[in-house]
Amino acid sequence: MKIKNIRFGMLKMPLKTPFKTAMRTVTEIEDVVVVIETDTGHVGYGSAPATAVITGDTHGSIIEAISKFISPTLIGRDIADLNNLTNTIQNAIVRNLSAKAAVEMAVYDLYGQLYDAPLYKLIGGGDNVIMTDITISVDYIDKMVEDTLNAIDLGFETLKITIGKDPALDIERIKAIYAAVNERALIRLDANQGWTPKQAVTVLRALEDSGVQLELLEQPVKGDDIEGMKYVTERINTPVMADESTFGPKETIELIRTRGADIINIKLMKTGGISNAIKIADIAGIYGVKCMIGCMLESSIGVAAAAHVAVAKASVITLVDLDTPSLGQFDPVTSGVLFNNAEITITDLPGLGISKIDNLAMLN
Ligand code: MG
Repeated sequence: MKIKNIRFGMLKMPLKTPFKTAMRTVTEIEDVVVVIETDTGHVGYGSAPATAVITGDTHGSIIEAISKFISPTLIGRDIADLNNLTNTIQNAIVRNLSAKAAVEMAVYDLYGQLYDAPLYKLIGGGDNVIMTDITISVDYIDKMVEDTLNAIDLGFETLKITIGKDPALDIERIKAIYAAVNERALIRLDANQGWTPKQAVTVLRALEDSGVQLELLEQPVKGDDIEGMKYVTERINTPVMADESTFGPKETIELIRTRGADIINIKLMKTGGISNAIKIADIAGIYGVKCMIGCMLESSIGVAAAAHVAVAKASVITLVDLDTPSLGQFDPVTSGVLFNNAEITITDLPGLGISKIDNLAMLN
């Protein structure tokens, strides 16, 4: 099975309600879809969203990086040569992590098809069902409480609350949600870089002192403020998770060694794809550090790939934040990963098992 051609498409998915964090508001998902065609007729799919404020990648930069730098190094290459292919992808251009992630997904999809097995079985195996949390977007308190109760009704047992806009109001938001939840679900907070180190400690201490129990606090301070992360981690009881503070394997080692966080959030768009996500999980495992698998607001092609990694590395990836497919008004992608609110199930279809992508607008 040799790579013959790499094509691009655009895929849109409107959200049920606008997704709001301390960083941005998003109303619609739009991804670049990478389509790898082979000489055997098998087709592999990958995708990447533009996340300019997080990774620096835009639709234009993703397409340019792949078409000008990554694609020429892959044409004619054999899918069976997986490790050499991922090395080639990672070294074809510096940074451009989302572009690399999208191409790797398509390559791993084909690798699964080559051996007629779902991807997770080829990268570690495991139990094919995982449970995800759901994101409750930052908003007026009443709206957040209403969204929280709806999520519990849908069967979600873990809620990820986005806050980080205004420390005093954030304390009130969380107290109100905690009371409404009344121990029916776990609560994790994502401050999305919205606080200073001192604000983070003040807010968490106020919540901890008032008896609010939280599973974790994600990215309280600016991503590049590793000292700030360490400051917060040392001063609160709630475990701190790094999201924007860690991208690749080297940063993970650095962050774990400096104790800048207790937990690492792995996202394929930050790691540059599946190969580095596996490395990060293995590194964290060596140090006894747990990981979350997360995703961007992205199509369920990318979320499906993340689910395969989560299952294969479930001993380390104990926390799952792959709720994007349930945030959309519909899912244009039919794949081997079934998203049913909190429950994610991987079927036995080979690779990522993608059989249909509705409204995919091909660019070439
Ligand atoms: Mg986050």
